[in-house]
Amino acid sequence: MSKLLFSVHNREASFKDSLEECFDIIIIGGGITGAGIALDAVCNKMKVLLLEKDDYASGTSGKSTKLIHGGLRYLKQFEFKMIRDVGRERKILYENARHIVRPEKMLLPIYKHGSLGLFSSITALWVYDFLGGVNKEERKKILDKEQIKKTEPLLKNKDLQAGGIYYEYRTDDARLTIEVMKTAVNMGATCLNYTEVTEYIYNERGIIIGVNANDKIAQKEVVFKSKVVINAAGPWVDRVRVMDKYQEGKKLMLTKGVHLVFPHKKIPISQSIYFDTNDGRMMFAIPRQNITYIGTTDTIFFEEMDEPKVSKKDIDYLIENLCNTINVAVLPSDIVSSWAGLRPLVFEEGKSPSEVSRKDEIFVSKSGLISIAGGKLTGYRLMAEQVMKKVYHQLSITPQNSTKNKRLVGGEFKDEQSIEKYRNQIIEEGALISIDETQVLNWLYRYGTQTSKILDKIKDFDEIEKSDKDVGILAELHFAIENESVYTLSDFLIRRSGILYFESEKITNILCEKLNNKIGLMLKKSKKETENSLEDFKKRWKESCFFD
Ligand SMILES: Cc1cc2nc3c(=O)[nH]c(=O)nc-3n(C[C@H](O)[C@H](O)[C@H](O)COP(=O)(O)OP(=O)(O)OC[C@H]3O[C@@H](n4cnc5c(N)ncnc54)[C@H](O)[C@@H]3O)c2cc1C
Repeated sequence: MSKLLFSVHNREASFKDSLEECFDIIIIGGGITGAGIALDAVCNKMKVLLLEKDDYASGTSGKSTKLIHGGLRYLKQFEFKMIRDVGRERKILYENARHIVRPEKMLLPIYKHGSLGLFSSITALWVYDFLGGVNKEERKKILDKEQIKKTEPLLKNKDLQAGGIYYEYRTDDARLTIEVMKTAVNMGATCLNYTEVTEYIYNERGIIIGVNANDKIAQKEVVFKSKVVINAAGPWVDRVRVMDKYQEGKKLMLTKGVHLVFPHKKIPISQSIYFDTNDGRMMFAIPRQNITYIGTTDTIFFEEMDEPKVSKKDIDYLIENLCNTINVAVLPSDIVSSWAGLRPLVFEEGKSPSEVSRKDEIFVSKSGLISIAGGKLTGYRLMAEQVMKKVYHQLSITPQNSTKNKRLVGGEFKDEQSIEKYRNQIIEEGALISIDETQVLNWLYRYGTQTSKILDKIKDFDEIEKSDKDVGILAELHFAIENESVYTLSDFLIRRSGILYFESEKITNILCEKLNNKIGLMLKKSKKETENSLEDFKKRWKESCFFD
């Protein structure tokens, strides 16, 4: 059996090797920022260790709007540089991860008393395309009132003047994080989830030369050494900075953003819509598979960071604003799933949550600790380049390689034709072993070229497993345990497969037990650990959908 680099099976060996190693860099945080830094560093031959206190993408990177976008609304705040930078990143990410970064047509309805008038909206879309360097075939189109009504009959008519169609990309944020990290691991990085950094180790000059951490699975304290330590802890950046005796620099401001998921038949829109809210903000309604999700809110957050919750106020706000623009009738009891994430924004005096810039900032403390805060999922690659520039400078190294053309694992497609060719091939392969097309396509846009590994796993199963009605999801779980460091049922159903958000109708108590037992058996867990994993998922499942 080949060495399963990014699997819990390899965890003990990774720990043993890491304790003896002196790394070039240790990254604290396994969200998109940390993953991006790990990939940039390993592409430049650095010895990299990434530590994540819970599961990868369990922070903000699994709870965003899941768009690779330049942020049209930031035009109102004149954030031209940020829009240009992240706008151009869209194309790069699409090239490098075509399986999980897919073009998404967006509709911007223009109403008489909307936040931007007709002329400003047209200008804004033109500027947006220009700054983002958008391809000719994906540039904005302006539709008149009749055309827009035909394009989306569910839009409310009153005061509707026209509409714009423009292109963004959609993704699965947690999967993007995993694929970036897996690409880094394949190139030599070591990543350990469930390992919390608790303290820094200093040399006699007060420079950080390593960290103490808690291996939450083996329940023991460990020490790792490195030349540089990077704090990529997202909303926890300040908490991780407080551990440094020289903490300094601007503080973060956290705001909560909530998304609600409904069956598509309850909000049967035919494309994504980006529309005004009644308090001068904007929100999305995004159809995907059999669901439509809506979001987001933007409220200052002071509560416990580990478990931001969806409140009744968030639900009322989103439903009210949805129904103001789109002709649907939905109730809190129609919600089938939801998530709440925290934006790690750099505090700016006197600005409201929606006015605070989304741009990133890097702080370097006297101890050498490099902290990165703010930013967007879409800009992760550029942010990583900027952070690593500081590290290369600190270590007097000239970087030789860029991640600009680095295909992510699963995204090894030259163009749309090659994804099409692979698609036809795996649909045929799936049919031969009775896996239906919808399931195969879900895997294609989740795992890309790795779909073949899942299909191979089914072929390798014994007769009892092959005849199980849940054979597809069991094979997917098997793949995720062996290749994606799944340790708990929540890791799999929330962050690797996204089933809790996008296919929650599949989840039943019986299925949860079956999957959880398989995890327990494959990872040789104790009875208590297996029970905890099931309990944890059931709690999250309940919290995500039971509202009235
Ligand atoms: C509601 C919402 C919608 C958004 N929508 C979009 C969008 O559509 N497109 C877009 O481009 N951007 C979007 N963003 C922004 C984007 O999601 C974030 O900028 C990005 O995910 C931040 O990633 P991160 O890695 O910095 O933080 P995180 O993903 O939170 O990662 C930080 C990690 O550090 C870990 N950690 C903390 N302390 C420790 C410790 N002591 N030891 C080890 N690990 C630790 C945490 O567990 C966490 O996993 C959105 C944000 C929100 C909140």
